[in-house]
Amino acid sequence: MALDAETLGQLLRTLESFVSERLIPLEAQVAEQDRIPAEVIEDMKAMGLFGMTIPEAYGGLGLNTEEECRAVRVLGYTSPAFRSVIGTNNGIGSQGLVMDGTEEQKNHYLPKMASGEIIGSFALTEPDAGSDSGAVKTSARRDGDCFVLNGTKRYITNAPSAHLFTVFARTNPDQPGGRGVSAFLVDASTPGISLGKPYKKMGQQGAHVCDVIFEDCRVPATAILGGAARLDKGFETAMKTLDRGRLHISALAVGCANRLIDESLRFAMNRKQFGQPIAQFQLVQAMLADSRAETYAADCMVMDASRRRDAGEPVSTLASCCKLFATEMVGRVADRAVQIHGGAGYMEEYPVSRLFRDVRLFRIYEGTSQIQQTIIARNMIRDA
Ligand SMILES: Cc1cc2nc3c(=O)[nH]c(=O)nc-3n(C[C@H](O)[C@H](O)[C@H](O)COP(=O)(O)OP(=O)(O)OC[C@H]3O[C@@H](n4cnc5c(N)ncnc54)[C@H](O)[C@@H]3O)c2cc1C
Repeated sequence: MALDAETLGQLLRTLESFVSERLIPLEAQVAEQDRIPAEVIEDMKAMGLFGMTIPEAYGGLGLNTEEECRAVRVLGYTSPAFRSVIGTNNGIGSQGLVMDGTEEQKNHYLPKMASGEIIGSFALTEPDAGSDSGAVKTSARRDGDCFVLNGTKRYITNAPSAHLFTVFARTNPDQPGGRGVSAFLVDASTPGISLGKPYKKMGQQGAHVCDVIFEDCRVPATAILGGAARLDKGFETAMKTLDRGRLHISALAVGCANRLIDESLRFAMNRKQFGQPIAQFQLVQAMLADSRAETYAADCMVMDASRRRDAGEPVSTLASCCKLFATEMVGRVADRAVQIHGGAGYMEEYPVSRLFRDVRLFRIYEGTSQIQQTIIARNMIRDA
């Protein structure tokens, strides 16, 4: 453990109260207004939530993977849009820097990310490079001491409020796939960057996503994440970042499943049909039991994989197993939750209808379920 048991316990209890007393009461408002109140963001800053995974030396809480997953599981108990605000600074927006950044880059950016003063976004996906993320077309052409970026990044989380983009661009057009790609740290105010309009999404209102367009955007060669030594090695950074990110999303899925189960159980014990609470019907009980068993299984997987990662084991296969199982699992749990609620589950007054839409995203981003399957099988064949 990076934190002693007492400190971690305190953090988790504080988070639980924050979720139940502050965030859950705001869920409907956030969904309606597609906006997280500024005061909530300030509270998150004060609690250190933007820097949970950033090392203490750079002003963060320095949580290890298991601790991060335990904290994210608590946050998952409310609308995932709240988690999304701090998600990139703790995950894909910062971890590339933490793992591969130069000391100078880390000192420059990480303290501001940890405090929430700046928001980091991860810009990998493109219109023609989604699951095939190594096929990025965004080019970074060397021009003296600079690189000139051209291309479009698609569906970038927190881009509308980002100050820093980790941009994956092709520095070596002769290398196929991910091998000729470098990661660049690009300030959002750099001339040549423009943002698309925020997308209207199926769920997770309050979390914002847009395209980021680079037109002759000139950055110094020192902007290469990790410095000159990591030229053409940015794709490796992206994949390492995603290993941890996939565990984070899996923990989030477990947290959401816990909430969906509690909502379903409460409803089933109160709603009466045929003269008794519907929780007494064995067919309803089967749905509750399946949801509990599957959530428990996902939780055990996430805890095991995160402990192994903290112990230094390679976890690429396990992280994909967790992401695949936990995100598909929460989809089933959300579907059952709506079913247990009957007609009420289709109505906006009940949180399960909103959560049903919110959790759909987990099976798509940071690698779709099909991509997790291909990673798992590819690694199995490689290791055979
Ligand atoms: C709300 C949201 C936020 C996002 N945030 C970010 C972000 O911050 N940064 C970022 O870089 N990206 C982000 N993304 C992009 C996300 O990671 C991609 O959408 C995702 O990886 C899938 O790519 P795609 O949409 O191009 O789908 P495609 O790759 O076109 O896939 C379409 C379908 O084909 C399947 N498929 C594709 N290839 C294979 C294969 N080899 N075998 C089997 N099936 C396959 C997929 O599983 C899927 O079912 C975000 C997306 C969304 C929706």
